[in-house]
Amino acid sequence: MTEQSAGPRGTILVVGGGISGLTAAIEAAEAGSEVFLVEKSATLGGRVARMYRYFPKLCPPFCGLEITLKRVRTNPQIRVLTLAEVTSIQGEPGDLEVQIQIAPRYVNDRCTACGDCVAACPAERSDELNYGLGSTKAIYLPMKLSYPPRYVIDRAACPSGCEKCVPVCAPKAIELDMKPQNLTLRVGSVVVATGWQPYDASKLAELGFGEHKDVITNVMMERLAAPDGPTQGRITRPSDGKPPAHVTFVQCAGSRDEKHLPYCSAVCCLASLKQATYVREQLPDAQVRMLYIDVRTPGRYEDFYTRVDADPNIVLSRGKVARVTDAGNGKLLVRAEDTLAGTPLELETDLVVLATGMQRAGLGALEGTIETDGAGFLTPDYRRSGIRATGCARRPGDVMSSAEDATGAALHAMQACQRRQVHG
Ligand SMILES: Cc1cc2nc3c(=O)[nH]c(=O)nc-3n(C[C@H](O)[C@H](O)[C@H](O)COP(=O)(O)OP(=O)(O)OC[C@H]3O[C@@H](n4cnc5c(N)ncnc54)[C@H](O)[C@@H]3O)c2cc1C
Repeated sequence: MTEQSAGPRGTILVVGGGISGLTAAIEAAEAGSEVFLVEKSATLGGRVARMYRYFPKLCPPFCGLEITLKRVRTNPQIRVLTLAEVTSIQGEPGDLEVQIQIAPRYVNDRCTACGDCVAACPAERSDELNYGLGSTKAIYLPMKLSYPPRYVIDRAACPSGCEKCVPVCAPKAIELDMKPQNLTLRVGSVVVATGWQPYDASKLAELGFGEHKDVITNVMMERLAAPDGPTQGRITRPSDGKPPAHVTFVQCAGSRDEKHLPYCSAVCCLASLKQATYVREQLPDAQVRMLYIDVRTPGRYEDFYTRVDADPNIVLSRGKVARVTDAGNGKLLVRAEDTLAGTPLELETDLVVLATGMQRAGLGALEGTIETDGAGFLTPDYRRSGIRATGCARRPGDVMSSAEDATGAALHAMQACQRRQVHG
């Protein structure tokens, strides 16, 4: 089905519903623009919704996110499309035609998120929210604070012919014959806020990811610590479910390395320091070691570094990790070079956390149509194209710098809308 929609020329399309896209949408709408906010997944929130806590305050992301989502929900100038992807952008600043594909959710807006369907569902699927740690039913709520607050069905996970969720849904919200939709929008400018994805740790064979269950990544650690995560917030070893007595963080896992990501992702040191506090708070006797090339905690984050470093159970050592192997006694053996002393360093540990960096997320059908820098981040000239990239799609960074950049992107998008009206 194709639906035609012609918005006014001043309309802004924001692609990506993470903190950057949400900020750009809210700022533009509150300044008077009509905004379409297009999100690929089934819920707004992006990667920050999957964190346990935020540095430096160590508050749960849901505090800020709840207010942000309320501003979206209550603003009539913002129209949200989830499970939606942009397939093409044509035209010039002030007059762009955009094609959007919307995948079926199989659950309509009568859903009250009661969860009765989950009990009836016989099928399981790998839980992408938890980076593959654990599973959900084929019908699931994308996350605790989902927006829209509605279930979604992964039809690929449904057993053939199964309709068990349909009769138990009192509000009759399940529509198994829902079809994909196409939408054409006329907008003045586009903000691309499609964010980041973790670097693929399976490319780091020498660091043991995939081979040893107790080698995990930093994003997995966030989910292990989160109360709505696969272990209900208990930090345990994936291999035996026991709490680790010793945890090692391997910094720059694939980052600042020409063979993998040649750049620094700007947040990994802070993320590991933050995660060290998760371990210490929950397991008071645990020892933490962080092996770094150099610790990067610029500006106001220096205080956070100093605070965490003051804990005698958290030891920061300058060392480049060469290998992680099985120590043969149920532990892992980390081999590194102590780059201060110039000597080899070997230590046994229960859990290794790889501080993998941020890579720009893929753009689907738009891939290759928007200019990038040498590291793959998006650098379109908004004056020429009407497209402004923002947040971690533009450069890796923390929430504060992403949100600040998104505010600037909203202004640039509004200016780009006016270009044709003023000059054209
Ligand atoms: C381990 C780790 C811990 C971190 N902890 C903190 C912290 O404590 N404090 C802090 O300040 N920062 C932290 N960060 C950084 C933080 O995650 C980023 O600053 C933040 O996620 C940037 O938000 P974003 O909206 O730019 O991108 P994202 O959060 O990636 O959001 C992008 C959104 O776009 C959607 N999308 C992707 N592709 C498409 C498409 N083609 N079409 C439509 N939608 C699409 C995605 O589904 C997603 O919803 C951490 C980073 C890491 C790696």
